[in-house]
Amino acid sequence: MAPGLTAVCMHPDQSDLRHVVAVRESWTELVEGCDHLRLLASAVAAGIFPEDDDEDWEATYAKEWKMAFIRGSAKKTGGEYECEKMERELQEAVDARILEEDDADKLHMMEHPEAHLEIVRFWFKIAWMRKNWTFQRFFSRALDRDRFIVHFGGLPSDEEKVRLRSHLDSLATIPHLIVPSNPGYVLTDAEYVWLVNARLGRRQPSTLELGPYCMCAAGTAIGNGHHCRVCRVGGGKTRVHNNVRDVFQKCGSNAGVVSKTETPLILPGTDERPGDVVFDGIGRGGGDLVTDVTVVDPLASFDAIGQGEVRTRTLTVGAAAAGAERRKRVKRGGPRGDKMEDRVRRVGKEFFPVGFETSGASTSQCSKLLKKLSEIAHERRGHHKAYFILRWRATLAMTLAKKGCEVALQRAYKVRHEQRGGNRGVAEADEDSGSLLNVDADAFIHGGYD
Ligand SMILES: [Zn+2]
Repeated sequence: MAPGLTAVCMHPDQSDLRHVVAVRESWTELVEGCDHLRLLASAVAAGIFPEDDDEDWEATYAKEWKMAFIRGSAKKTGGEYECEKMERELQEAVDARILEEDDADKLHMMEHPEAHLEIVRFWFKIAWMRKNWTFQRFFSRALDRDRFIVHFGGLPSDEEKVRLRSHLDSLATIPHLIVPSNPGYVLTDAEYVWLVNARLGRRQPSTLELGPYCMCAAGTAIGNGHHCRVCRVGGGKTRVHNNVRDVFQKCGSNAGVVSKTETPLILPGTDERPGDVVFDGIGRGGGDLVTDVTVVDPLASFDAIGQGEVRTRTLTVGAAAAGAERRKRVKRGGPRGDKMEDRVRRVGKEFFPVGFETSGASTSQCSKLLKKLSEIAHERRGHHKAYFILRWRATLAMTLAKKGCEVALQRAYKVRHEQRGGNRGVAEADEDSGSLLNVDADAFIHGGYD
């Protein structure tokens, strides 16, 4: 064999074959462009991960990263997130290996992984890598994380950041992924257009013909159309709320739990009705579970809230929903001005608020309730737990999306009609049902807009 050809066969990645050159260039670009991949490549070159290591470093890192930078639910210790600590410790391990390395070639590989495509070969020998990853997926995920940070940092306003953050919830994503397997899951074209534009933060096409202000109160701007989704006139928010409440009741009866909606709870000295759905006998200590559903707008009161709250809403998924749950829980009333959860406990029941955002995002309360019902569904009806949760999560997500789009489109239609002179002078009835969406929720959803 010609010596040149032998060299190519022995060391293809050192050759100048066209596709080999192209792969080498891609590798260099990848490693130089992504700090995380560069660190991993150096660590592999330094032999930090033994070949039989099956504890998936990257999976743990990705999970921690998601909690820190997507969900906003991770706490910092010593000024850094767990994922940042993992990277720092890995970097320290690489640095230590570099200090003790005498072999110039090995040293070069650790310090300049971008020039050593052969690292891929060592990388793929690591057990957790071979078992759980393809390079394609590994690299795409790392690049996605970088792109997300750049994209989010480049958003023009806090309002845009809150809007995007509120959509980063798996419940909010379901309507974009689901196979429409029953009529309740099918969005009309107009609804789908609304949903997609709301996710992208673009001006809703159905509001393009509207004047700049809503007809609900002087000075309430239509903006990109989001106002039509949360306008207090027209009863839209009550409809969304009642539909979500009904999903929980149906979910309960599917699990074999008896429940009532809108039951007046007997709370001494007050006519409050905190129970949207009261599930018989599944609360703490065998009492009833008093579920209170709220659907809030994460952009509500945006001009009025403090910087701390703005920050929380920009960085944490479901922060507004969690805030609404908290408010429900500590709402004071009755003769002694006690908190709602204590007052409900005193009559032998458990208070259980569940918050949603207009984007569809929810909190751990929602998952807890579905998990609890799935376990009862398994015991009483023999349902498959995981399927039960999937099914009802999808129903909740689709109800929030479909009813939300429906009321928004209807409000846009009515506003256009009124702006063109229809119904002028006739006050449209506010179909708000009052006590169900109590005072707290009202202020929270609409305060600041009018
Ligand atoms: Zn309005």
